[in-house]
Amino acid sequence: CGIVGYVGGQSALDVVLAGLRRLEYRGYDSAGVAVLADGGLASAKKAGKLANLEKELAARPLPAGTTGIGHTRWATHGGPTDANAHPHLDNAGRVSVVHNGIIENFAALRAELTDRGHELTSETDTEAVAHLLAEAYSSCGDLAEAMRQVCRRLEGAFTLVAVHADAPDVVVGARRNSPLVVGVGEDEAFLASDVAAFIAHTREAIELGQDQVVEVRRDGVTVTDFDGAAAQVRAYHVDWDA
Ligand code: GLU
Repeated sequence: CGIVGYVGGQSALDVVLAGLRRLEYRGYDSAGVAVLADGGLASAKKAGKLANLEKELAARPLPAGTTGIGHTRWATHGGPTDANAHPHLDNAGRVSVVHNGIIENFAALRAELTDRGHELTSETDTEAVAHLLAEAYSSCGDLAEAMRQVCRRLEGAFTLVAVHADAPDVVVGARRNSPLVVGVGEDEAFLASDVAAFIAHTREAIELGQDQVVEVRRDGVTVTDFDGAAAQVRAYHVDWDA
C-alpha cells in the first residue's frame, strides 16, 4: 500500500518511519521496515498500526543504518499477520523487498522456488520476489540488474523496492501498473509510492514510467527499462504542500 526507501546520511529508520506516517491516510493493516547496518540487514514487521511496529522497535531496536526501506500493507494474498507483513527476505536474510500490488503468477514462482530448495515462510505473492532477487543477485552481482531479470518474469501490477546487504549504498525500485517516485535530495535519495513520503526532505522528484527499474545512491539515480536500456524519465519540482 505505502512504500518508502532511503539512502543518505540520516537515520534510515527515522526517515522511513516518518515517510510511512505521511502515507497512513491510504489505510493499511500491517507495517514493516528493514535497515542495512554493519554489513548485514535488520528488519522488523508487525500486523496492525505503525504504533505496533514502533513498540516492537522500542523493545528490540535495530542497529543504526543510513540505507533502508519500509512498507504499510493492505493484504491481498495472505491474511494480515506478522509473517505476511513486508519486508520479505530471502532464506539467507541478505535481501529485503517491499511490494505494492499483485504478482499474478506467484503460485508458479513459489512452486519453482520450493523445487529449488527455497523455504517460503509467508502466504504472500511478494515473498517469491525476495528469493528470486537473491538468486539473480548471486549470479550477476548487481542489484539493479537482478531486479530487471526478476521483473521480466513477473506478471501483474507491482511497485517493488529492495535492498541487499552486499550492496549497502543502493536501493533499487521497479514498477508496472503501480506508482513509484524518486526524491532527489542533497547527498541523499528517496523512493516512495507517493511524494508525500519525502517532501519534508526534498521537492525534486522523478516520476518513473511504466516498466522501469531505478537504482538510487546518495549521489545519483539511474533509470532503465526492464531490458537495461537507458529510459526517459520526467523530472519535476513538487510545488504543493502535502
Ligand atoms: N499483494 C501484496 C500482499 O498482499 C502487497 C499488498 C499491498 O499492496 O500492500 O502482501
